Parts: sequence; C-alpha cells; structure tokens
Amino acid sequence: MSERDCIFCRIIAGEIPSKQVYKDDWVTAFYDINPVAPVHVLIVPNEHIPSVAAATPQHEAVLGRLFTAARRIAEDLGVAESGFRLVVNTGRDGGQDVFHLHMHLLGGKRLGRLG
Ligand code: 5GP
Ligand code: ZN
Repeated sequence: MSERDCIFCRIIAGEIPSKQVYKDDWVTAFYDINPVAPVHVLIVPNEHIPSVAAATPQHEAVLGRLFTAARRIAEDLGVAESGFRLVVNTGRDGGQDVFHLHMHLLGGKRLGRLG
C-alpha cells in the first residue's frame, strides 16, 4: 500500500479529521474511532512503517518514542496511576487491520486477561 492510500498517513497529514491528543516530530496520537475502553488512543509513527514485521534498527528511535509518548499521554488522560495496556497488533494472526504500525493505549477500566 502506498502512503497516499494509507488512512493513518492521511490522518497525520490532516487530510482525514481525527481527535488528536499528542504530536511531536516522531509520533502522532489520536482517539480510536471505535473505542473498546474508556481511554483508547492510537499512537503512530509519523513515518509510514507498515508493521513491527517491517521494523529495522533505523526505526529504534521512533519505536522508543512510541513508549515515552504513551507514558505522557497516559498521564495527560489520567490513567497513568490506575494503569493501562499498550497493544501492537502485527499481521493477520495478530489482528492488524491498518498496515501503518500503531500502538493502542487502552485504559480507564479493568481490562481482561489476554488470549
Ligand atoms: P488494528 O486492528 O490494525 O490494530 O487497529 C486499527 C484501529 O484503527 C482500530 O481500532 C480502528 O477502530 C481504528 N481506525 C480505523 N480507521 C480509523 C480512522 O479513520 N480514524 C480513527 N481515529 N481510527 C481508526
Ligand atoms: Zn501510513
């Protein structure tokens, strides 16, 4: 898929509206359109990386920024103390629907066990 056709690239570019919660030189974060928890934010690299399966050592800085942005967003949205879950679905069996790498930040309720 080209970046022109990528829904998250278009959100980052502002071509598709979103409820943005954070942006810096590396990552952009916005509310998921179909939330499964009271807090459900997607944190995405500004660069189009299709999935963790396409990540290389060159991506280590931006991959690290996903986590530190998550910590900051969790604080801003009031779930840092109560806790939250970070999920990165990867590929078909991982349930990835959008092939622009993204981290789900979920919180605001007691989340079930994985699997
Ligand atoms: P995945 O299943 O790939 O891990 O997650 C993709 C997520 O993107 C889903 O939770 C879905 O609700 C969300 N999503 C898909 N299209 C849009 C959109 O246009 N805007 C926003 N804000 N979220 C979207
Ligand atoms: Zn993209």
